[in-house]
Amino acid sequence: MAGTSSDSQRTIGQKTWELQNKIETINSVDEIYRYDKQQQQDILKAKPWDKDPNFFKDIKISALALLKMVMHARSGGTLEVMGLLLGKVDGNTMFVMDSFALPVEGTETRVNAQAQAYEYMSSYITSAKLVGREENAIGWYHSHPGYGCWLSGIDVSTQMTNQSYQEPFVAIVIDPVRTISSGKVCLGAFRTYPKGYKSQNDEPSEYQTIPLNKIEDFGVHCKQYYSLEVTYFKSALDRRLL
Ligand SMILES: [Zn+2]
Repeated sequence: MAGTSSDSQRTIGQKTWELQNKIETINSVDEIYRYDKQQQQDILKAKPWDKDPNFFKDIKISALALLKMVMHARSGGTLEVMGLLLGKVDGNTMFVMDSFALPVEGTETRVNAQAQAYEYMSSYITSAKLVGREENAIGWYHSHPGYGCWLSGIDVSTQMTNQSYQEPFVAIVIDPVRTISSGKVCLGAFRTYPKGYKSQNDEPSEYQTIPLNKIEDFGVHCKQYYSLEVTYFKSALDRRLL
């Protein structure tokens, strides 16, 4: 068959990608994919993150959500793109099950883009609740083409607003340019601290190069948020979809 060699090449490509990003296969699909509405509502009511600004430690992202984010970020080229994350929480871990694009571009550079982005997010979340969609919006993502994964001043203020009104909520930043050159997805997941909170954690964030024209923005705001430990997973179902 003519398709065989390209099929096997694609399989090799996928395998390499999974290895590069250490994508873990979860066999007990039910466990991770089960959405327990009552349990989620109980967590939402208890709000343990209100008492501890460092409450969330880990984030597990499905391979499907990851691939969709990477493709979307790449399609934007040098323009920043953004989207929403769907998922749930369990203990100190956030789970991203799916992601989808929002029609907002240039969030970092275009005047009013961030406000427009926020508008989209909150109206989506409200309407999803109205139609009774099970999985909650658990965060947002946007791209930093070529300048690394961290939160700018604008991102910090957007995420602070999100954490005031949409909790539990995470901010993911993805760099499609650095992803292409290394194969490993350049991605960071962040939570902001409340206004005026002094972070005890003084260890520097994972080393990365910040371009000169962005270094001030990085330096001024880097103590206002922290990174979550990111891992990826896939299930047998994902394998078929991918
Ligand atoms: Zn940004």
